[in-house]
Amino acid sequence: MPRTRSLQKALFEVAKAVNSTLSVTETLNALVESATKATGAKACSLFLLSPDSKDLLRSAYYGLSEEYITKGPVKAERSIAEVMQGTTVLVKDVTTDPRIQYRREAKKEGITSILSIPVFLHQETIGVMRLYTKDPHDFSKDEVEFASSIANLGAIAIENAKLYESLRSSYEEIRQGVLSWYDILLDKPRPTSFGHPSEAEFARILDFYHILWVYEPRSFPITWDNGNVTEMFTPDFYLPTLDMYIELTTMRQNLVTDKNRKVRRLKELYPNVNIRLVYRKDYFRLLARYGYGPLKEAEMSRIDKVLFTAFEIEERVTQLGEQITLDYKDRQPVFVGVLKGVMCFISDLIRHVSLPVTVDYMAISPYRTETPGSVAIAKDLEISITGRDVILVEDIIDTGLTLNYLLSYLGTKKPASIKVCTLLDKRARRLINVPVDYVGFGIPDEFVIGYGLDYDEIYRNLPFIAVLKTEDSLSGAW
Ligand code: 5GP
Repeated sequence: MPRTRSLQKALFEVAKAVNSTLSVTETLNALVESATKATGAKACSLFLLSPDSKDLLRSAYYGLSEEYITKGPVKAERSIAEVMQGTTVLVKDVTTDPRIQYRREAKKEGITSILSIPVFLHQETIGVMRLYTKDPHDFSKDEVEFASSIANLGAIAIENAKLYESLRSSYEEIRQGVLSWYDILLDKPRPTSFGHPSEAEFARILDFYHILWVYEPRSFPITWDNGNVTEMFTPDFYLPTLDMYIELTTMRQNLVTDKNRKVRRLKELYPNVNIRLVYRKDYFRLLARYGYGPLKEAEMSRIDKVLFTAFEIEERVTQLGEQITLDYKDRQPVFVGVLKGVMCFISDLIRHVSLPVTVDYMAISPYRTETPGSVAIAKDLEISITGRDVILVEDIIDTGLTLNYLLSYLGTKKPASIKVCTLLDKRARRLINVPVDYVGFGIPDEFVIGYGLDYDEIYRNLPFIAVLKTEDSLSGAW
């Protein structure tokens, strides 16, 4: 344990670690890790009391083996019961103290002393923090106060996230249901990847609105053959505070029928389960209106469908940037963007290129009707590209006329090399076959807007790429 003078510093370090994240799980993990390091103990754990006050559910731990952690349920009334009454308890020797529920396991883990500190919230004990030492240790008054301060930081972290409050208020309703979401929430870590980008995007919207969610919370058996389960259904999300399962159907339309069947079956078999199907149309409406659309609903009604969500674009642009980084290793390419449609794409792209880069822009004036296919330079390059490796960046290649013109124009400036990178490629409309080295997405023959692309100078600020409604279909808004 640190000396009194350095306890203050150690507490500061713990507070810093705990404050560095907004997620409850990460906060609690930071808390136990920094508490272990700051006190010089062997390990630290934090348990929360289950809603029925019978069990201590492990919420975070540091310095303990998986074997020790999975030794079995920790009973609140057996395991250091006084702590739950609000008293700090020191067990100096775990091997002999009858209050310790798992003595043999503790010895095997190399634990000798355990300091248990109650975690308070609104004058109620909501859990316990434990510090474990290798050698027998008498905790001084200062050390106990220090550990209590840390435990209270944990309580504040929980309070901040409103986790405990929602756990308590929702518990009674959920008790009638098929599972306790408390268990799921504590046991299921946030996923690092999702089955489909739309699920990741949906999770972000939920985060944005501070709605707790669990990804693929559980699988429900829905078909049996001779007593054996032959089909399971795993909804995409569970929203504990709404006690609602969500199944997204934003992917292929042909999957919708099957999903409908599964959802119907689930409702028959598990009438207590509240499940909602979110259709592609509903989902994009949600995205456009709440999640990401900066435009008012009135303007949104002109949007036919979203082709690529903000998340899908981000993912693809990241990949392109990483590919360019690899391809141009040890070189300093010049990115030449063709204004204005390229503005979002190029600014995101270059931020994923880990090379020293130069950026310049060109602008061309629109096609002149009197000479179709001819382009005029409205803004030329400001830097010299002679002898440089140029990457020409386009928002979209349609007929290929613009690109063809620009390539031959830039060629006269004698760069060392020229490659083309476009976010969108509308191949079906190509008139001139131009070489394209990096393509974000191939798209069908439709007029697209958003993420820099305009229609009549608006819609550039949409964070997704969408198809604009044709004049005829405008009456049939969503
Ligand atoms: P291209 O010369 O290849 O036919 O056309 C390229 C230019 O036409 C792009 O840089 C873009 O300004 C415009 N363009 C082509 N297709 C679309 C589209 O679907 N949406 C928008 N907003 N602009 C397009």
